[in-house]
Amino acid sequence: MRNDSVKVGVIGVGHLGQHHVKHYAGLPNADLVGIYDSDRERAESIANKTQSKVFNDLETLLDAVEAVSIVTPTRFHSDVAERCISEGKHVFIEKPITKTLEEADKLLLIAKEKGVLIQVGHIERLNPALLALKPYTLNPKFIEIQRLAPFTSRGTDVPVVLDLMIHDIDILLSLVDSPVKTIRATGLSILTDSVDIAHARIRFGNGTVASIMSSRVAKDKVRKVKIFQRDLYATIDLLLGLTEVYKVVNNPDDNPDALITAPFDYGGSERFIAYEKPATTSGDALKMELDNFIKSVQGKETPIVTGKAGRDALKVAMDIQRMIIQDIH
Ligand code: NAD
Repeated sequence: MRNDSVKVGVIGVGHLGQHHVKHYAGLPNADLVGIYDSDRERAESIANKTQSKVFNDLETLLDAVEAVSIVTPTRFHSDVAERCISEGKHVFIEKPITKTLEEADKLLLIAKEKGVLIQVGHIERLNPALLALKPYTLNPKFIEIQRLAPFTSRGTDVPVVLDLMIHDIDILLSLVDSPVKTIRATGLSILTDSVDIAHARIRFGNGTVASIMSSRVAKDKVRKVKIFQRDLYATIDLLLGLTEVYKVVNNPDDNPDALITAPFDYGGSERFIAYEKPATTSGDALKMELDNFIKSVQGKETPIVTGKAGRDALKVAMDIQRMIIQDIH
């Protein structure tokens, strides 16, 4: 292990936390010191699989590390993160950052006082299909996002807006460089006492409109983003890792990357629609996220999703959730 490796621990080693453990164990800049889970049996079983050390309590783990991943159910993020940050530890918090805005604001404040990093696990930002749009100049006018998932009891400690839709809110805020102006939203409870299906229409200050729909009552998983702007239409399948772009060009020879170019006759002048499938890079998004966290702790990179970005996504999610509650009562 190199001397400048970051000593890191994982708190909460359930469905997702076990993958944090696996990736830290393989990252060259990270020194996985150990794990803590309030379910001792669960911790032992993950420790056996990953040859990691189990800590009996949070305090002892914190004494031994510089940074942690917090992968507990969302309702515990705030308490656990506050304890870690107060001890001067850098924190990677799984999404959503917390379950209330007040909790998120408090964490940002104490992190600033203590001079530590907060990074938030909005993993879709590293989805190769979304990263494939980098070469394009985006100026979206309308964005449609749909996320459907079959029901599982995991994540139901929060409404679907905080569990699933928040991924897309974060994507949206990263695509539109303008403040949210108005939100209209509606939703329904189907299987839980909380909101299981949600739809929101968001208008930004620059006129961009987004329609986002999330449901945890579905037969199959769907995760699709569609972007419309002047002379360009892009569809991104986050699940399949497929990005397709249709754009209007004046000369078919200008676009050697196009797979197909077809004439497009409108308004008297012939132009062309070029169909492109931009290359996607392979790579595990979680591993890339944690690598970015470790390098950010080392001062070699900056966090892809900051605590502030996690807080901003939560703010929009809370506004949507509030509107849904008003709408259904
Ligand atoms: P999970 O229920 O499978 O695992 C949570 C683990 O935390 C359990 O082992 C539990 O015993 C442990 N735990 C509970 N309270 C604790 C505490 N106070 N201290 C230490 N350990 C504690 O949940 P999960 O599906 O792994 O989700 C965990 C978090 O990850 C949630 O916030 C969820 O929103 C997020 N998540 C993110 C993504 C993503 O795509 N980025 C995907 C799934 C889950």
